[in-house]
Formats: sequence, structure tokens, C-alpha cells
Amino acid sequence: MSALPNNLVFRDGVQVMRMDLHTHTEVSHDCRTPLRDIPAWLLRTNTRVIAVTDHDQQRGGPELARIVADLGLGDRLSIIPGEEVTTSEGELIGLFLRERIPPRLTPEETVREIKAQGGLVMLQHGFDPLKRYRLRPEATLRIADQIDIVETFNSRLSRHHWNRVAAQWAQERGLPVCAGSDAHTLRDIGEAWVETPFRTVQTPEHLLAALREGVVGGHWTHPVYAYGRKQWRNLNGRFRREG
Ligand SMILES: [Zn+2]
Repeated sequence: MSALPNNLVFRDGVQVMRMDLHTHTEVSHDCRTPLRDIPAWLLRTNTRVIAVTDHDQQRGGPELARIVADLGLGDRLSIIPGEEVTTSEGELIGLFLRERIPPRLTPEETVREIKAQGGLVMLQHGFDPLKRYRLRPEATLRIADQIDIVETFNSRLSRHHWNRVAAQWAQERGLPVCAGSDAHTLRDIGEAWVETPFRTVQTPEHLLAALREGVVGGHWTHPVYAYGRKQWRNLNGRFRREG
């Protein structure tokens, strides 16, 4: 383990870390990030908590948690098993899921499934009209009082303005806020974060406590640029692996 970088960051004498609650891995149909490459990147970027939120798949989180445990890194990195679920009216994220939730249920049914598993409902990229798969505004209003966390910084919105709209919406409802890179490549993981004092996060209560003490931050990337970069990195990664 000593070979892995372990980037410790302190602020005013307190060890802090970053949490990224919206990431994709090779388990997603549109992403190639190998699970086994993720732990070293997390240590290097001090991103010590990530939620794995693959499209309509839940197994990436448990698999990555197993890899982290096998590496003996369980006290340094926390992996939240999640899923970005396609509902009949756009996407919603469930965190702390024990099993996969099938796509194309109604938003209400999806929320019920998440809560039945003891999970948290997270509204991601909810206000960007150019995000094709965002939850429809009517659906957002119908389930508003069931939402536990609002993503107020997403690195992949068409305009950063929509992050501010999300922040305003969360504030009006007194809801906890978070950040998500929506990473589809390894190097994009940690592009958006909540900085909070270091701890391990194993339960919804741990996460909500960490968010309450957290500060949202991140880099916003124009989506056309992000798409080009993903293609380029995937191409490079393929050449490297073959070479
Ligand atoms: Zn996503």
C-alpha cells in the first residue's frame, strides 16, 4: 500500500477531504473507467468519498467497495453504492442502495424503492432544460418533499447558471446540497466536490452529517469540451492498454 500516493490535506489544522456523489464507471454503458483504477485516483485527489451512480446499474458500488477493502483502504476511502435510475419521467439518483432498481418505473415508484432500501433520494442536474434526461419539472414538484439531497454543482451542465437555480431551490426548502462531477472518465472523478472534515461515511446519517459541515465546490466544463475530452481519453487509454 505504501506505493499508493495518499494526499492528506489540512485546513486550519483539521484534516479535510472531498466527496463526489455522482460518478460513472465501466458498469455504465457509456463509460470505460476501470473500477480497479479508481482507488489510487481517489487517494491522489483526496476524494475520499464517492457515490458510484451508474446508469440503471447498482453493482459498481459494491464491487468497488470490495476492491477498496482488499487493498486495505477501508479506513481511508468510503464508497457509497448508488444508481442513476431512469424513471418514466427522467433520471433520479438513489444512494445507499442494497440492490438494483429497474428503470422506467414512475418517479414516485422509484422514490418508494429507494426509501424501502433505506436509501437517500438525490436530485441531480434537475434544472438544466438542455439535459435531456433530467427529471421533468412536473415530476420534481410532485416528489419535492421526498428529496433528501439536491446536487447544486454538476460539472456537466449546459450553463453554470442552472447550478445556481438548483442551489436556490434547495435553499428555499432547507435541503442539504451536494456536488457531483458526473464523471465519465477517471480523471473527471473529483471535478466537483463537497469539502468536509475527514471521516469515513458508511450510512445515510454519516453522509448527511458530513454534508451539513461541507462546502460545495468544483470545476464546470462546457459539455462539448467534456465530450471531446472523454473521446480523446478513451482513445488514449485504449492505445496505452494495447501497447
Ligand atoms: Zn450521471
